[in-house]
Amino acid sequence: MTATQPGTALDSASVAAFARAQEVIPGGVNSPVRAFRSVGGTPRFIARAKGPYLYDVDGNELVDLICSWGPMLLGHAHPEVLDAVMSAAQHGTSYGAPTEAEVDLAAAIIDRTPVEMVRLVSSGTEATMSVLRLARGITGRDKIVKFAGCYHGHVDSLLVSAGSGVATLAIPGSPGVTEATTADTIVCEYNDRAAVREAFATYGDQIACLITEAAAGNMGVVPPGVEDGAGFNTFLAEICREHGALFISDEVMTGFRVTASGQFGLDGVVPDLMTFGKVMGGGFPAAAFGGRAELMHSLAPVGGVYQAGTLSGNPVASAAGATTLRLATPEVYAHVDRAAALLQREVADALGKVGVPHVIQTVGNMFSVFFVGEDVEAVPDYATASTQVTARYAAFFHSMLDAGVYLPPSAYESWFLSSAHDDRALDRVVSALPAAAAAAAEV
Ligand SMILES: *Cc1c(COP(=O)(O)O)cnc(C)c1O
Repeated sequence: MTATQPGTALDSASVAAFARAQEVIPGGVNSPVRAFRSVGGTPRFIARAKGPYLYDVDGNELVDLICSWGPMLLGHAHPEVLDAVMSAAQHGTSYGAPTEAEVDLAAAIIDRTPVEMVRLVSSGTEATMSVLRLARGITGRDKIVKFAGCYHGHVDSLLVSAGSGVATLAIPGSPGVTEATTADTIVCEYNDRAAVREAFATYGDQIACLITEAAAGNMGVVPPGVEDGAGFNTFLAEICREHGALFISDEVMTGFRVTASGQFGLDGVVPDLMTFGKVMGGGFPAAAFGGRAELMHSLAPVGGVYQAGTLSGNPVASAAGATTLRLATPEVYAHVDRAAALLQREVADALGKVGVPHVIQTVGNMFSVFFVGEDVEAVPDYATASTQVTARYAAFFHSMLDAGVYLPPSAYESWFLSSAHDDRALDRVVSALPAAAAAAAEV
C-alpha cells in the first residue's frame, strides 16, 4: 500500500513498543480490540493527543475517528477540562470520603437525563454489573434478557452468545464464564419483537430485567427500529411493565454523546434504570447507574443491595466529567452532527464511485459503515451485521491509516467525532477516502 500525503508509514517506535508490550501484557494491550487482530498489522502506540489528532510514538499525526471509543466529545486535551483536572489534582487525587465534586457530577447527569438519583462507579462494566444486581435485588427474580450484539462490558452474565431469531437460553461466550452464571440470561436478536414476546411469554414471572443498549453501537450502529409508529425502546418499556420486570437502558456509549441527553433525547423513552459512562468521565474512569429514587434507595447504605468502590466518585474524574458535561453545549452537538453527516456523505460517495456495496447507519452523530452484500439494505441486528465482508473493512482501514486517519480497528464499531474536528481534520479524512474505497473494491 502506498502512503498518500501526509504519509504515516509505520516506523520502528510502534513496532518496538508493541514487542515490549507483548512481553508484559497479554497480546500487548489492556483491551482486546486495540490489538488490531481483526484488521491485521501492528497497533500504533500513542504518545500524545490534541484536539482531533493523535500522535503516535513515531511522530505521525493521525485524525482520530475513535475519540477513545466515544468519551472525547470535546476533542483531546481540551484546555478547560485540563484546568479542572489540574486544579482538582492539586488538592489531592483520592480521599475515600465524600466530596462536592461527585455531587456536582451526579447533579449534572440528573439534569440531562430522566434519572432521579445516580451512584457513581469507575467503569461501564461496573455500572451494568451493579445495575443487574440492583434489579435482581428489587424484584427478587433471577432471569435477565439481553440482545445479541449488544455489549454491556465484560460482566460474566452478559458475556453470552446465542442462536439467531428466537429467544434462546444463553451459552457462555468466553471460557471462564460458567454455565451457571449465564443460565439465567436470555438472549434475543436486537429489534426482534417476536423473540422478546416469546421470552416474556415463557419466563415472564422470572424475569428481573431487560437490558439493552439505548441504541446499539457495539455491533456497528444499529438504531432501535420503528414498527407501526412505536419505537423498539417504547415496546421494550411496555412489555417489561406488563410483566413486572425492570427496563434498563444502557447509555454508556450513547449518553451525552448522541444528544445532550443521549438516546433519551431522541426517543424520550423513560427507563426504570440507566447506565452511563464514556463521555461523562471526560476521558477519566468514571461511570454511573441511576433511576427513580425509590429504586435507587434499595442500594446500601439505605437498602440492602450491596455495592461499593474505593475510587468511586474520584475527585479528579468527577471534575473532568462535570466540566465536560458543562461544556457540551448545543453548539457542540450541532458541530459534531454536521461533521458526522458530512463524513457519511463523503464515504457513501467514495464507495459508490467504485461500486463497493455498503450500508451506513447512524444514531445522532454516531455512525458506522457496514461492508455488507449488495442485497442488504439495512442492518437491524447482529445476524445481519455478521454478514459483513470484514476483509473489505480491513483494506479500507489500512488505507485510511496510511493516509493518517485512525478508524476503529474493527468492522463492528461506531466512528466517533468531536467538536474539535475542524475543516483541516475533516478535509484530511475526505481526501483519504478515494484510495481507501479503491482498496476496499479490490477485495
Ligand atoms: C463501553 C461500554 C460498556 C463498558 O464500559 P467500560 O467502561 O468499557 O467497562 C458498557 N456498555 C456499553 C453500551 C458500552 O459501549
